[in-house]
Amino acid sequence: MIKIDSITKRYGNHTAIKNINLEIKKGEILGLLGPNGAGKSTTMNIITGYISATDGSVLVDGFDIFKNPIQAKKRIGYLPEIPPLYTDMTVEEYLNFVSRLKKVNKNERKEHIDTILESIKLTDVRKRLIKNLSKGYKQRVGLAQAIVGDPEILILDEPTVGLDPKQIIEIRDLISKLGKEHTIILSSHILSEISAICDRVVIINKGSIVAEGTPDELSHKLSYGTKIALRIKSSLNEAEEIIKGVSNINSVSNEGVKEPDTIDLIVEGKNDCDIREALFYAFSRANIPLLMIKPLNLTLEEIFLEVTNESKEESLNAGNVQ
Ligand code: ADP
Ligand code: MG
Repeated sequence: MIKIDSITKRYGNHTAIKNINLEIKKGEILGLLGPNGAGKSTTMNIITGYISATDGSVLVDGFDIFKNPIQAKKRIGYLPEIPPLYTDMTVEEYLNFVSRLKKVNKNERKEHIDTILESIKLTDVRKRLIKNLSKGYKQRVGLAQAIVGDPEILILDEPTVGLDPKQIIEIRDLISKLGKEHTIILSSHILSEISAICDRVVIINKGSIVAEGTPDELSHKLSYGTKIALRIKSSLNEAEEIIKGVSNINSVSNEGVKEPDTIDLIVEGKNDCDIREALFYAFSRANIPLLMIKPLNLTLEEIFLEVTNESKEESLNAGNVQ
């Protein structure tokens, strides 16, 4: 549906994105994840033809966004980082205005807008001035303008930024719903958001793609693999003694008591060694119940921090990780 072929964007000496290659299939919801300044908006602005690339090409349903902008843009609904709202218009006036811009057939305009107002849950505020709406509702109007004209593709730049948790869930649900009938590219610097709605995630950092896959694939690809969480019905000393007798153990860390009369440990095997079976038999020989053996995969959050080299503390302090 969209084919991005080695696009690069330079502002003077500064390279905002370099050599981005990406293909988005019809019906897919793709998440573009990256810290601020990574190049998400630049990439989206190029895909939508809003700015030009220094190098490379973008095909939208076979049409080149630079050579055939009218055909290509017709297929795209765009919600930029700052929605282009005319706040002195009512919701209805504004959507009418956008319909005219997007050349929606005059006879179909009213019905089209009614359908959109209904699906984005804006019917109740259709006569309200946009400037008097809450941020959550303004964002919905932004989404509504993107779907005017029934484009197949929706490009949404940080659609939930600045919203409160309840509004975030509402917008997220709306996007999931729209995802049933659209191809969507969605950007965010918030992991939970991306993993909640997207089929596939592309992590971008300093203008380049650094990781790609389904949320599950990413967490397996970069998994610790050999790290196992254990809950053992014994004392710490007893448990450590037994683990000492198991071969191929790299490290043991104490996670404390999470349940009365038990101890939680994280045990790491040496180079790819699966140590689960050995641990099971060792504890079973000692007649000590192992209440949990759980391999630890990296969470999307840990992957993000790893590939973007941000310190966990920094990111948590900035409130970026939810
Ligand atoms: P993101 O959306 O991921 O936060 P952007 O795409 O907005 O990142 O920005 C990527 C990089 O390009 C940043 O370093 C930013 O400062 C730079 N940049 C973006 N727009 C311009 C511009 N018009 N002129 C100069 N530099 C820009
Ligand atoms: Mg941005």
